[in-house]
Amino acid sequence: MIETKKEKQAKRVYLETYGCQMNEYDSELVKSILANSDYEITTREEDADVILLNTCAIRENAHDKIYARLGDLKHLKNSGNRVVIGLLGCMAQNLRGNLERSDSVVDIYAGPDSYKRLPAMIDSVRQTGRKGFDFNLSEFEDYSDVYPKRVPGVNAWIAVMRGCDNFCTFCVVPYTRGRERSRSLQSVVSEAKRLVSEGFKQVTLLGQNVNSYRSHHDDFADLMAAVASVDGLKRVRFTSPHPKDFPEKLLKVMAEHAKICNHVHLPLQAGSDRVLEMMARTYTKKSFLALVDKIRDMVPGVTLTTDVIVGFPTETDAEFEETVEVMEKVQFDSAFTFKYSERQNTIAYRKFPDDVTEAQKTERIVRLVDLQKKHSLHRNYEQIGKTVKVLIENHSKRNVAEWMGRTDGNRIVVLKDDKGGHVEGSMVDVTIRDATPHTLFGELHDACCSLHPQPERQIAV
Ligand code: SAM
Ligand code: SF4
Repeated sequence: MIETKKEKQAKRVYLETYGCQMNEYDSELVKSILANSDYEITTREEDADVILLNTCAIRENAHDKIYARLGDLKHLKNSGNRVVIGLLGCMAQNLRGNLERSDSVVDIYAGPDSYKRLPAMIDSVRQTGRKGFDFNLSEFEDYSDVYPKRVPGVNAWIAVMRGCDNFCTFCVVPYTRGRERSRSLQSVVSEAKRLVSEGFKQVTLLGQNVNSYRSHHDDFADLMAAVASVDGLKRVRFTSPHPKDFPEKLLKVMAEHAKICNHVHLPLQAGSDRVLEMMARTYTKKSFLALVDKIRDMVPGVTLTTDVIVGFPTETDAEFEETVEVMEKVQFDSAFTFKYSERQNTIAYRKFPDDVTEAQKTERIVRLVDLQKKHSLHRNYEQIGKTVKVLIENHSKRNVAEWMGRTDGNRIVVLKDDKGGHVEGSMVDVTIRDATPHTLFGELHDACCSLHPQPERQIAV
């Protein structure tokens, strides 16, 4: 596949992202790295000289999507198109040995720590036709010297750390993203300041377990306080903390800084102590429930959301009922529920046969989804009649005459703006009139209330 003179000039890259917010952030890094190497980023696949898929490995259905997509791309290549195809991220890293077959449609494989090598790898395959791969995981790469290329908007994500050292037995992340590393507080604060200068109003700090953020003497609470002090930012969020070591200092910082949003995503995973131990989560049902009480005590009105896995190996019906019991007790505002999916390389894959049947997993997840819908509706109904601050993000998807925004607690609000004049990034007072499990519906409380200062949150520490 030796490139012609014409092809040397054409370097348009089309990038598709699968999976979590960390992957979205990584795609912004990749776009920045390529744009700084004279590649043009295109949103039109048909114009692309290079197609990159930034992949996810967290569950088998994430892999299935990529295999299906590679099938489409094979047709494209078989039809004579000389496009270069690259597989990036977690799936590439996790399946490296299995993927590098000479008959594969993929030309380039790059794991999450190899993105700076992409321009050279693409150039090389274009010049020599030889496939390239780089799966080196680094203990140091944190990309803090790369400023992500973002789509302008209201919210920007900042990855404050990479990798994970927790080795929950079901989870592939420590194998695909490597050892945990934190960026310096200064580099995160500088990125937040630059985002403000570009018009972003909210930042969400991102890490696999933000509680273990450490940079010199700074911990995550110090980092949140520093980012919340950046002038011009309206809101600061974070995800995810681990229930095993949630620091009281972080709750105090949340309670003290009005800009830090009233939302904690606290992944439960399971309600049974025996299952939690097999998962290596290192907390118990009792300590999780005690933490929920403490968070609600110190941050009144906090929104709590969670992740739950059903059908972990050997989970019995009675143990599943303990998950139901915790969900009944906590009544989360929302929950992501997953069927256990065996992942190559993980501890569970090596030690525990995937012995809960698909039918049992389905039965359990349906129970949880129904239960959570009930709780979400109940929590959203509690908002009816209240007037809440909403940060407007965009026009509503269903109706351009309506706006979509979020409350401090991350609830989605759809509102009419009959008086006009509000735009993305405005903070407005909205009176909630109706609710579904996933959405609140409201109307502007007063056209000029966005000028009112945000009230200080009640502190109960
Ligand atoms: N670091 C985050 C934490 O500890 O909460 C989790 C990140 S992971 C991308 C998001 C969620 O995927 C996890 O909380 C878990 O519920 C789910 N998950 C991870 N591995 C899984 C597996 N093998 N099968 C099913 N769900 C899984
Ligand atoms: Fe995976 Fe556990 Fe790390 Fe979260 S904390 S990324 S679930 S190993």
